[in-house]
Amino acid sequence: MSEKPAIAFLGLGHMGGPMAINLVRAGYSVAGFDVVPAALEAAKAHGVPIAASPAESVAGAGVVLTMFPSGQHVLDAYRGTDGAPGLLATAAPGTMFLDCSTINVDEAREAAALAVEAGHRSVDAPVSGGVVGAEAGTLTFMVGGEEDDFDAVRPLLDVMGKRVVHCGGHGGGQAAKICNNLILGVSMIAVSEAFVLGEKLGLTHQALFDVASNASGQCWALTTNCPVPGPVPSSPANRDYQPGFAGALMAKDLKLALNALQSTGVAARLGPLASEIYDTFAAEGGAGRDFSGIITDIRDKSHNDRSQA
Ligand code: NAD
Repeated sequence: MSEKPAIAFLGLGHMGGPMAINLVRAGYSVAGFDVVPAALEAAKAHGVPIAASPAESVAGAGVVLTMFPSGQHVLDAYRGTDGAPGLLATAAPGTMFLDCSTINVDEAREAAALAVEAGHRSVDAPVSGGVVGAEAGTLTFMVGGEEDDFDAVRPLLDVMGKRVVHCGGHGGGQAAKICNNLILGVSMIAVSEAFVLGEKLGLTHQALFDVASNASGQCWALTTNCPVPGPVPSSPANRDYQPGFAGALMAKDLKLALNALQSTGVAARLGPLASEIYDTFAAEGGAGRDFSGIITDIRDKSHNDRSQA
């Protein structure tokens, strides 16, 4: 792969738009495409060259980068739908297929197998860091793929992110992402339940924070994304749970974790329960709120007869 390969960038949404802009600013030749005209216009307004079709974006590209909502979108775009040729058939042999969407591990492995079978190279590289990280070029990339393919995509991942971790073979990036978010989803519920219990027992938020943040309860959900206002001034709880990391995305990632738990037969109990809890949270108004807003759900659904809050 040449030092600065031409990039077909498909999926110019909340994340893909700013990621494409950063690649253009770093001097990469980008041909952007999205099925939604507004996404195309927004990227174009920030200097991203736009292609008229997926085929046009892929023509001459050394890398096909996708940033889609789901694995089905990725597989459909790779294979093509309704008899139309997909990206795999349109791209020149040996093209690097780099998928940054968050999708099921099994789907990532299937997408990689299809790409390799079609004579291409493939890497999965889901991200964390949200829209703020996408705009600032400070995302974390969790990467699955062959060593030399990882080395080949690393320079452009370095443009869009500040941490790039090779997690193993195909699907390894997705695996690392959902395992991390399984920890995060469960730990936020635990921290939230502890704060609500503390309220009932007459503890101030600050007292519980001062103890737990310096004791064995310490975790990111507590010390960075603290679900109550006050102890951590930068946490979303201080701005009425504006995300941050939206409840809809946590619900999505835990569904992917649940699928993987089921397909691998892990005897997990908290993961499935957390998935159910965030599904309900998202369905009952939490989809657009930070996932730490789960504490308001727990508080609202608690019995108030002995509350000291
Ligand atoms: P988004 O819905 O804003 O963007 C996805 C874009 O893909 C849309 O503009 C859509 O029109 C486009 N698209 C779908 N099918 C297409 C096709 N065949 N060709 C071209 N464009 C197509 O979603 P997002 O928030 O940008 O998230 C993208 C991915 O990143 C998701 O998998 C999400 O889980 C993951 N992610 C998001 C965040 C976040 O904070 N938003 C954080 C980490 C990871």
